[in-house]
Amino acid sequence: MANEKLKNYKYDYDALKNKIIFITGASDGIGKALAIQSAKLGAEVIIHGRNKKRLEAVYDEIIDDPKCHKPVIAMLDYETASSETFSSLSESIMNDFKRIDGLVHCAGILGDRSSIEQYDPGLWQKVMHVNLTAPFVLTQALLPSLKLSKQPSVIFTSSGVGQVGKAFWGAYCVSKFGTEAFSQILAQELIHTTFRINCINPGAVKTKMRLAAYPAEDRDKLKSPEEVLLPYIFLLDDESIGITNKCYDAQ
Ligand code: NDP
Repeated sequence: MANEKLKNYKYDYDALKNKIIFITGASDGIGKALAIQSAKLGAEVIIHGRNKKRLEAVYDEIIDDPKCHKPVIAMLDYETASSETFSSLSESIMNDFKRIDGLVHCAGILGDRSSIEQYDPGLWQKVMHVNLTAPFVLTQALLPSLKLSKQPSVIFTSSGVGQVGKAFWGAYCVSKFGTEAFSQILAQELIHTTFRINCINPGAVKTKMRLAAYPAEDRDKLKSPEEVLLPYIFLLDDESIGITNKCYDAQ
C-alpha cells in the first residue's frame, strides 16, 4: 500500500510549501540536490554541513531563484562537535523557527573498503561516529522542534549494505545496519504520535562517495542525485501522512 502510494506519487510545484526542513550533508551529493529541490518546492531549508564555502555555494544557488525562501546555514562538523554544540544548535532553531517539519539525514562518510582483519580501529570509530552517533545526537536534539510540527517527518539515508552484510564494507556497512535499527526503534517509540520515521536506500548515485567506493566504474551509467529525490520528497510531503517505519529504495 505504502509502496503503491509512492509509485503513483507526482509532486506539485508547491508540494513543500510552509515546511521547514533540516537537511544534513547538504553541501554535496544527495543532500545538496534535495536542499535545492525542496527550496524550489516552497520549503524553508536549513542546510547543514561542515564546509562553509560549499554551503555558501548551495545557499547562492537557492537564492538565485527569487521564488525560493532564503536558506539558513547550520555549520557543524560531526567529527568534532560536542554535545553542547548540538544543544545550542537546537536552541537557536527553536528560537528562530519555533518548529521543524522535516529532518533528513544525508551526511555520511565511506571509510575504508578493507577487510575486518585490516580495518583501522580509529577509522572504524570515526565512521561509526559520523554515520550513526552524530545523527542520533542531532535527532535527539531536534526532537523538541519536531514535536511542534503537526506532521513531522524524519528520514534516514541507508544503503544497499544496510540490511545484508557484505565483505570489505566494514564500518560503513555496520553503521547503515545501525541506521536502519535506529530508524525502526524511533518509529516504534513514536508510533502513537503523528511522527513519520522512515529510511531510504538511494541506490548507486553519481557522487563523490560513490566515486570513492567504485573508482573504476563507468560513471555515465549512474543516476544523478537529482534523479533519486522522489521518495525523499514523498516522505516530506503530506501525501505520505500515516506512513512510518518503512525503508524505500529510490531506484
Ligand atoms: P557525498 O560524499 O556526496 O556527500 C556527503 C555529505 O556528508 C557532504 O555534504 C559532506 O560534507 C557531509 N559530511 C561528511 N562528513 C561530515 C562531517 N564530519 N560533518 C558534517 N557533514 C559531513 O555523499 P552522497 O551524497 O553520496 O551520500 C549521501 C548519503 O547517501 C550518505 O548517507 C550515503 O551513505 C548514502 N548513500 C549514497 C550512495 C551513493 O551511491 N552515492 C549509495 C547508498 C547510500 P562535505 O561536503 O564537507 O564533504
